[in-house]
Amino acid sequence: MTEQKWEDFYCDEVLSGKTQVEIVVETEHCLAFYHTRPYYEVHFIVIPKKHILSFLTVSNEEAEILSDVLQVVKQVASKLEKDYGACTISTNIGNYQSNKHMHWHVHFGAKVRDEQGRLLHDHQAK
Ligand SMILES: [Zn+2]
Repeated sequence: MTEQKWEDFYCDEVLSGKTQVEIVVETEHCLAFYHTRPYYEVHFIVIPKKHILSFLTVSNEEAEILSDVLQVVKQVASKLEKDYGACTISTNIGNYQSNKHMHWHVHFGAKVRDEQGRLLHDHQAK
């Protein structure tokens, strides 16, 4: 089975409410929630509520939104550090970005899926 590819999963599914997500933090400008198909043992996604293509396309007018997103990334990352002692923060650009809406990954633990999105045998996603 192949993973369905979305041009903009976040606007089309998450922000529209079509796909329910488990929200961790919500602010005026952004949303942090558990990844619907986690790649790591604990995997959060942080997105702006406004459509912004990527970290590289943030305009001066959107500086406040980016600042809010980064504050929430910080909040979620500090929760992982507190609970597990570590985490990784990343955002993809260009061809690495399968989903054309800026999103930040904040995750801890072993990888639980391969690049094709298949669950690895030894790990169970939380
Ligand atoms: Zn979008």
